[in-house]
Amino acid sequence: METEEMLSGDLKLDIGGEHFELNLTIPAAPVKPRRMLPVFQMLTNQIVARGIERANEEGKAISCKAACGACCRQPLLISEAEVFDLADLIESMPFERRTTIKQRFREGREYFEKLDWFNRFDAMSERAKAGPSDELGREFVALLSEYIAQRVACPFLEDESCSIYEDRPLICREYLVTSPAENCAAPRPDNTAKLPISGSAARAFGLLVKTENSAKPSSLLLIRLLEFAETHTDRSMERIGPEWTDDFLRLLTDRKDPGLAGPKAEAA
Ligand code: SF4
Repeated sequence: METEEMLSGDLKLDIGGEHFELNLTIPAAPVKPRRMLPVFQMLTNQIVARGIERANEEGKAISCKAACGACCRQPLLISEAEVFDLADLIESMPFERRTTIKQRFREGREYFEKLDWFNRFDAMSERAKAGPSDELGREFVALLSEYIAQRVACPFLEDESCSIYEDRPLICREYLVTSPAENCAAPRPDNTAKLPISGSAARAFGLLVKTENSAKPSSLLLIRLLEFAETHTDRSMERIGPEWTDDFLRLLTDRKDPGLAGPKAEAA
């Protein structure tokens, strides 16, 4: 069986005032960015775990529990690489499950198309390029609240639990709250306390893999992922693992030298 050459390196990293020491194993050969997702998911998990530790030290408990999918009815923007990755995950599912999931995606997308929600979101995002304003902020909150009020669940939600938990997007990993769980049914900035984390891997990865494919912000909403995957090809470039990691860590830490130690090769 052919083995993929991997590189292993120790990483000492400061992210937003938190210190992390990790061992990363990454592909040596050029790969699409989605191949890097397991590494960045692991790093996200560590950042979030540290955030939970800090919250607990301050006497705050995380309200999120198994079988609470209240937050899974929000308009979530994910990265292009995750769009293609999740579309492939759906294709790999058994026929019956795949058909059910695809139908939920179609119905969810059509529901918000009828409300003209995607076009209004794109128009508002366009206006935001001119800079923030209180009025625009209020309009955005109202538009997001309108989406949430429709109670359209993420197609992956089963019995109020994520059915793709191990593969869930980075942004889902980062979203935890310390405010009462019941507030998540109608979350607003003034009733929801999101768990602070030292750095957002979802944001860094989104910037890293952005291509001209995603001209309209709404095209990368999770509820539209199948539509996007069916109408676009994955145009992301291939780069070796250390290059993806270096640039990702620069975006994550806002540092020129994020501190990746020299990698050593090993077969995996
Ligand atoms: S992918 Fe999973 S965690 Fe994310 S919104 Fe969907 S059901 Fe919730």
